[in-house]
Amino acid sequence: MAYIEPAPIKDKENPFESMMFRFKIAAKHLGLNDEVYNVLKSPDKQVIVNLPITMDDGSIVVFEAYRVVHSNVLGPSKGGIRYDENVNLDEVKALAAWMTWKCAVVEIPFGGAKGGIRCNPRQMSAGEIERLTRAYTTAMLDIFGADTDIPAPDMGTGQREMAWLMDQYSRNKGFTSNGVVTGKPLVLGGSLGRMEATGRGVMISTLTAMEKLKINPYQSTCAVQGFGNVGSFAAQLLEERGVKVVSVSDVSGAYINENGINIEEAIRYRNENKGILDGFDGAEKIKGDEILTLPVDVLVPAALEDVITTYNADKIKARLIVEGANGPTSAKADDIITEKGIMVVPDILANAGGVTVSYFEWVQNRLGYKWTKERVNRRSDRIMRSSFDNVYKTALKYNVSMRIAAYIVAIDRVAQAYSYRGGF
Ligand code: GLU
Repeated sequence: MAYIEPAPIKDKENPFESMMFRFKIAAKHLGLNDEVYNVLKSPDKQVIVNLPITMDDGSIVVFEAYRVVHSNVLGPSKGGIRYDENVNLDEVKALAAWMTWKCAVVEIPFGGAKGGIRCNPRQMSAGEIERLTRAYTTAMLDIFGADTDIPAPDMGTGQREMAWLMDQYSRNKGFTSNGVVTGKPLVLGGSLGRMEATGRGVMISTLTAMEKLKINPYQSTCAVQGFGNVGSFAAQLLEERGVKVVSVSDVSGAYINENGINIEEAIRYRNENKGILDGFDGAEKIKGDEILTLPVDVLVPAALEDVITTYNADKIKARLIVEGANGPTSAKADDIITEKGIMVVPDILANAGGVTVSYFEWVQNRLGYKWTKERVNRRSDRIMRSSFDNVYKTALKYNVSMRIAAYIVAIDRVAQAYSYRGGF
């Protein structure tokens, strides 16, 4: 009988509540007044639609889909669209709020939003996914817009879906709007550097944190959970800068090689084998969640939410955790990690490279101009470094973790903007 890996134990936190838990701590440090707290604690808008889609076999299946706009105080709302069978409203609400904080931490003029469709894209044909994407876009015509709400890729979506979205939106409006969505293919106004932007930001955050912790990259080891768009680029860029990546993982399990995994080879293998590492022989296979507790200097969770929990936090040996994923650490595990003296570069800072280059893409679309890759990278690296420094200084000033400091920076900016704009 085939071995079935047991599902990792989770804290099963409601993601919106765990976001609010951190928000409350930061709000208290800031002395945020009740009025602003009440504005920011719930999303501005929550849309749920049911999309009937004709499947290839002629049957009609109804998919539930969401778009949550958390805030547009700092600018049009921004955030990706997730295609996953576990998507639900609470998750999308939390992810939308995280986008507000993320954009505010890196000081880009966007609010926060998120979308999702409950579906399993792995079991759908390209035609079915295209019809679903076009139906979703049509349902959200009044929400999306280059000046109102700008979607982007997230888990389960990429350039292809963004191209369909842009096309459907443009057809309905009667003009071509490439600024309505980011993460597009280059030829449709996508930005150079967008694809690797989140992984690159993770790399910059890791190296900046290593400087603070006095870890020499050339003598360090790292484990990267998740080998998708974030994890694989982060692993590759860290390897290029001297970090020995001893373990990587994906849905097929974790792979370990104490001499360092050849990331280029792993990426090639993945690309040639249906997008997963199953059967990769450049490393030894271990159980998927063992990757989190390996004796490495740096741990990069770049896969799912709620993977570092009260069940495994005390077993973590890394000195530095850089959150490539959104919400990989449960709120209950935060204290255990802080007590162990592990530095965490939180998601809303560590993975903000993606939305930063999304912002550059939107700027280029509005200018009708194309930047070079060097320009994109130089500017996003600078933003990632200065945002890190700002959060680091805030952590020292308030004597809090980097996570709470990032929330303090973000909430303070949004609250200031709100105090100028005011309510009705
Ligand atoms: N989905 C990505 C994130 O969670 C990118 C969002 C965007 O570029 O708008 O940050």
